[in-house]
Amino acid sequence: MHYYSLNKQAPNVSFREATIQGQAPDKGLYFPETIPTVDPLIIKNCNDYTREELAMLVMQPYVGDTIDEKSLFRIVSETIGFDFPLVKVNEQISSLELFHGPTLAFKDVGARFMSRCLGYFSQQATGKVTVLVATSGDTGGAVANGFLGVEGVEVVILYPSGKVSPVQELQLTTCGQNIKALEVSGSFDDCQAMVKDAFMDTDLNKALQLTSANSINVARWLPQQLYYFFAYQQWQDKEQAPVIAVPSGNFGNICAGLLAHISGLPVKHFIAACNVNDAVPEYLRTGNYAAKTAVPTISNAMDVGSPSNFIRIMELFGNKYETIREKISGYTVTDETTRQTIADVYHQYGYILDPHGAVAYHALQEYLSGHPREAGFILETAHPVKFPDTVEAMIGKKIEVPASAQHLFGLEKKSISMKASFADLKEWLLNG
Ligand SMILES: *Cc1c(COP(=O)(O)O)cnc(C)c1O
Repeated sequence: MHYYSLNKQAPNVSFREATIQGQAPDKGLYFPETIPTVDPLIIKNCNDYTREELAMLVMQPYVGDTIDEKSLFRIVSETIGFDFPLVKVNEQISSLELFHGPTLAFKDVGARFMSRCLGYFSQQATGKVTVLVATSGDTGGAVANGFLGVEGVEVVILYPSGKVSPVQELQLTTCGQNIKALEVSGSFDDCQAMVKDAFMDTDLNKALQLTSANSINVARWLPQQLYYFFAYQQWQDKEQAPVIAVPSGNFGNICAGLLAHISGLPVKHFIAACNVNDAVPEYLRTGNYAAKTAVPTISNAMDVGSPSNFIRIMELFGNKYETIREKISGYTVTDETTRQTIADVYHQYGYILDPHGAVAYHALQEYLSGHPREAGFILETAHPVKFPDTVEAMIGKKIEVPASAQHLFGLEKKSISMKASFADLKEWLLNG
């Protein structure tokens, strides 16, 4: 399998090079030359396969011969080494809980797969790689945890000071070793702009082998397909494909689901659920796409004004608005509705949503009210304990911190303060 740049001004590369580079030299996103299909018989009989077997079937064509089979099996097994339960909330709506990994968010899957691939490639004399990543909250923790102790890889995480939750901040600032956290006095968009400038900078690219761990990296984006397959294994009514609602920010997660669907996974319809940062729902409604300036919300991991993976979705559908609209509907959900949804779902069904899952839940509920014979699930992308202020106020009780996160509160935060200035970032990266 080779990958081409969506800007079409760079040579095609293997999975190995696409992973190491992150972005193509022409600043385009890498995209697979062909979309592999999964044998329909395998999908029909998916419950005869273990999760590891399915994961190998899905990932192997994308990786090609850049990772030997035995190593790939180890990498996928470690990547998916926790539960992905599909939990019924009511007759029509279930929740695919993607928060049972080490940092309590779905980003663990992509970060674990990517870190292990980079670790594998760096053993083969690639030289030291520096992963540079901006986070609005969850990426930082997942990347820090996934890359901790991986030889040959240095990780630098930029996060907006005061704009991530306490658990999120602890997850990304307490690792030490090869993980450095830069606390930027600015917004997530400022952090993202600094990272983008760094990838464009000639001096930095001469001095360091820089790569990104955002979902623009194919090694983070592609493995997110896996849990859509695991969900289908658990989907009871195989006669009727599910509607899937994905809380979306940079659109990497939903784009992976679309890829899985094009490979053969049965999905009735996709719902792109956004907070008021809704450039894509706006496009789906009007046919006009315009990036926006991000506005802060209570579902902060989705506060993205210009979603990086939108261009990959366009490519998947041959850039045809009508085709995209048939498969995806967009919804915009305000903070007020998000809060109300958390309260309602808790009081009606005893299920605790996090703000991101609540955005998806409301969107799915809206959609299903117009399609009463259909059923579906949301992707519950983070554990509610990551957003305690919002959630506890709505459900009227404390959320228990899962055992896997309790140790964090005894650790010391270590961050490096920085102004929202690319010049300062460059100076620090070059001279420490
Ligand atoms: C990152 C994140 C999202 C958005 O995912 P994208 O792939 O960027 O669309 C949604 N929810 C949570 C909790 C996240 O951390």
